[in-house]
Amino acid sequence: MIPYSEFEANLLLVHARILRACEACGRSPETVALLPVTKNHPVEAVDFVVRGGLTAVGENRVQEASEKRSSYSGRVQWELIGHLQSNKARDAVAIFDRIQSVDSLKLLRRLDRFAGEQGKVLPILLQFNTGEDPNKYGFARGEADFVLEAALGVANLKVDGLMTVAPLDDDLDVARAAFESLRELRDGLAERFSVSLPELSMGMTGDLEQAIAAGSTQIRVGTALFGERHY
Ligand SMILES: *Cc1c(COP(=O)(O)O)cnc(C)c1O
Repeated sequence: MIPYSEFEANLLLVHARILRACEACGRSPETVALLPVTKNHPVEAVDFVVRGGLTAVGENRVQEASEKRSSYSGRVQWELIGHLQSNKARDAVAIFDRIQSVDSLKLLRRLDRFAGEQGKVLPILLQFNTGEDPNKYGFARGEADFVLEAALGVANLKVDGLMTVAPLDDDLDVARAAFESLRELRDGLAERFSVSLPELSMGMTGDLEQAIAAGSTQIRVGTALFGERHY
């Protein structure tokens, strides 16, 4: 784990990247939230985030987040950004403040059921594989109307918006196309269903500029803040 001083310097660099990307496309930097991704880093990373003035962290595994949550005494929002197996849905509902990686109807229905049992309305994002990457999770674009209708029809979930992970590709135009596709998908859904789907969670360390240009409201950043992850 890097020292706090290094995290602080990294945070400044990421903020500078956000600022520059916003300037380039005429957006206000306040419209882009930074979600620090603390997966594969010790609980100190969560502490750094809060000391740095940020209020939420992204984690990709239920077990790891659960352990960090019990050993961290401060206040922070926990967001799940990784694929969730249905058999861990109950724990995930108990641990996370929002689940961004809702990628199947089976999972959606289970999350609704457990949120109801636990007496809460759980904010979610619907994950789409707009880059059509066979290695990535997410609904296909063509399923969008059906999926949103199902999500709006359950009582214990609140759909904040959409999320995607771009295909890994040296050509950043591939990521750009996936992000623009998610934004167009959101715009169409919001209009057809007369709902507001304000959150567009897209962009990571390598492609945050492309995501901001395409309308991202939240970038999820790990490596640029905490350094390389060691698995
Ligand atoms: C790990 C991860 C990130 C952060 O990736 P970096 O390239 O380290 O910034 C963002 N989103 C998801 C879904 C991830 O799993």
